[in-house]
Amino acid sequence: MRPIQKSNKLAEVCYEIRGPVPEKARQMEEEGHKITKLNIGNLAVFGFDPPDEIVQDMKINLSNAAGYTDSKGMFAPRKAIVHYTQSKNIAGVGIEDVYLGNGASELIVMSMNALLNNGDEVLVPAPDYPLWTAAVSLSGGKPVHYICDEQQEWYPDIDDMRRKINANTRAIVVINPNNPTGALYPVSLLLQIIELAREHQLIIYADEIYDKVLYDEAEHVSIASLADDVLFVTFNGLSKNYRACGYRSGWMVVSGEKSHAKDYIEGLNMLASMRLCANAPGQFAIQTALGGYQSIQDLVGPGGRLLKQRDLAYKLLTDIPGVTCVKPKAALYLFPRLDPKIYPIADDQQFAYELLAETKVLIVQGSGFNWIAPDHFRVVFLPNSDDMTEAFGRIAKFMEGYRKR
Ligand code: PLP
Repeated sequence: MRPIQKSNKLAEVCYEIRGPVPEKARQMEEEGHKITKLNIGNLAVFGFDPPDEIVQDMKINLSNAAGYTDSKGMFAPRKAIVHYTQSKNIAGVGIEDVYLGNGASELIVMSMNALLNNGDEVLVPAPDYPLWTAAVSLSGGKPVHYICDEQQEWYPDIDDMRRKINANTRAIVVINPNNPTGALYPVSLLLQIIELAREHQLIIYADEIYDKVLYDEAEHVSIASLADDVLFVTFNGLSKNYRACGYRSGWMVVSGEKSHAKDYIEGLNMLASMRLCANAPGQFAIQTALGGYQSIQDLVGPGGRLLKQRDLAYKLLTDIPGVTCVKPKAALYLFPRLDPKIYPIADDQQFAYELLAETKVLIVQGSGFNWIAPDHFRVVFLPNSDDMTEAFGRIAKFMEGYRKR
């Protein structure tokens, strides 16, 4: 029979966070092994419950949530998001500029699908949250990676970004706070990115899904609040700030200079209507989540569980000889570097397989984030302190063995 092959559109698409190594972990679980999964920023499964009020709100509204909603979403949550953008000093946003989605993920793919023709280029960070690279490829575009510099707190290298802009470049993706590095960008840097976008008429896609997961009293500034003459699309949602990944509730906001983007916005509206609407129960949670006390503070502030676990994970990992790490200022991840002189890793996926087989700990190799060398990996710091100490102890032992090879 004629082989049934996947579409050519998928040739360049990969998503290693749930890729072959996690598949191996799944098989090991089926064989009865207990696997510590440090591969996904899935807060609720580690006991970080969502705020009770949003769970209640979902429950109460479940019986009203059986119908389709407006394609862009219901009025009240979109209005609450307009207020949220105002609180972040993003000017000129109306209800019509807000799109609700099944997580930010759906909207990221939609925003790229609506924009790109074959060969169009989008500047994406390296390392990146790999959905961005995948979404550009899937949409027929070419992801071009600009380097984030580990020596400079993982900030984007503006000169590299500038060098990579050409006549085909359409947009710059800015992930701030960053996954996987945990970097938080200063205003001066954001202004330089805006300047490039202004000069070359590029759209800025701002993924800000960790904008409240901030440590050490850091503050987040939305890049879209810093200019009104560039087109911005800003992404956020309930998954991280509200520990509700499974509710699949996210949004994107179009702001800044929109007058020249009518056709693109028509494209976004078309794609939003083709998928009918985002899941309605998840929409109901948004207004309650955004209003009132923000309980994430209890986790990231002084004495908070996430803060403590970040510090513990950082110490446990950087105590391993040849392992260094920029301490994350935000988000849920560490992205440590393995000194290539001590750990001469040729294939970091193989490294992740071996680590899994020996320690039963699942990490994601750096190349899964489109990082340029096989010398990094990513872990979440979500298991409780005892479990983390145990898992990182096993990693340390594995690394010791690796050094002796
Ligand atoms: N953007 C970044 C940077 C992420 O890390 C994630 C999930 O890990 C997402 C987007 C996807 O978020 P959602 O659950 O809203 O689809």
